[in-house]
Amino acid sequence: MSDKVRIATTSLAGCFGCHMSLLDIDERLLELVQLVEFDRSPINDIKQLKAADIGLVEGGVANADNLEVLKQFRSRCRILVAVGACASNGGVPAMRNPFSLKACLQESYLDAQGVVNPQIPNDPELPLLLNQVYPVHELVKVDYFLPGCPPSADAIWTFLNELIEGKPISLPYTQIHYD
Ligand code: SF4
Repeated sequence: MSDKVRIATTSLAGCFGCHMSLLDIDERLLELVQLVEFDRSPINDIKQLKAADIGLVEGGVANADNLEVLKQFRSRCRILVAVGACASNGGVPAMRNPFSLKACLQESYLDAQGVVNPQIPNDPELPLLLNQVYPVHELVKVDYFLPGCPPSADAIWTFLNELIEGKPISLPYTQIHYD
């Protein structure tokens, strides 16, 4: 049995930018894989989550599938981390929240300029949209928040190293200011 830390990652209503930032740690990935192994993640394309020490969640919760995945991550990951602005406060996807779901669908699929053959998609394969986009902590307990859009590769590197080593998380100012 491996004694490496198991990490699972997922993108809910996100753009995968936070995952790209994780990959941007570049050659340090070689150091990371000495310490960790990946469970479910878009990085290795494993679709089923077994159990992980750390779950990294990118994106807010916009539909029923996002909600199911989030609940599974919470139940099977010892430590759950909201990674990035969308997971922490809804981010760009939550910009639809001031409007009703009906109004959003109408504008997107029926009334928008350039729409051809207007119809609202209703294939049963499509996950049902929730009435609003939720940050993850409004639906499950979150242990850590990693801010940024996306958090920088250096911030992710610092965070993961401190978490794996059991140290208090202490991101330097240069890694958490964005102007
Ligand atoms: Fe993309 Fe930014 Fe949201 Fe991450 S926080 S998923 S980079 S929009």
